[in-house]
Amino acid sequence: MSADPATSESPVRSRLVVLAGPTAVGKGTVAACVREERPDIWISVSATTRPPRPGEQEGVHYHFVSEAEFDRLVETDGLLEWAVVHGRHRYGTPRGPVEERLDAGEPALLELDLQGARQVRRAMPDALMCFLAPPSFEELERRLVGRGTEGPEERERRLRTAREELAAEAEFDLTIVNTDVRAACRELIDLFDGPARA
Ligand code: 5GP
Repeated sequence: MSADPATSESPVRSRLVVLAGPTAVGKGTVAACVREERPDIWISVSATTRPPRPGEQEGVHYHFVSEAEFDRLVETDGLLEWAVVHGRHRYGTPRGPVEERLDAGEPALLELDLQGARQVRRAMPDALMCFLAPPSFEELERRLVGRGTEGPEERERRLRTAREELAAEAEFDLTIVNTDVRAACRELIDLFDGPARA
């Protein structure tokens, strides 16, 4: 990140923001809003071994890969971070595209689970770590049930993970409470537009 010598008060504001938070808190919806409002903010497309849900498209929502392809990405150091999420499928951030964006000085957003966020914080200490929180645990539970994409067993597993994830809020630089998607989206965009961190 470099400062404009003429106006050191207004440095180049490009930065890497990591958005993490418990399952079903609405990270995907908030990220979709950022994509719509600010197409200049690049959002990483993760690789995953999870099968696509109805409506999900290869290369848009995820790169859907086989276990063997994921193994190869890990072995070739092709992932910036990766994790087994909800004890089942693997998810990871392809390293190359993130580094290209940052080298080009373009803003980049990563939407990750907590394990991935911790890895990025270690690998890229300049990343701004943002925790997306639900208004309450009850509301989170309601959203998870409302989404209807998981069976009862999977839902229980995700809620267990969510309880642990909520306890990690203090590890983050800041929290955005997702009461209203548009408002949360605007707060997230402000992180890219605000003054650069010292
Ligand atoms: P879903 O299966 O609902 O799309 O995502 C499950 C979880 O995986 C979400 O919490 C999401 O943030 C997380 N996730 C998605 N992509 C990545 C990634 O590249 N790395 C990590 N560590 N987590 C991810």
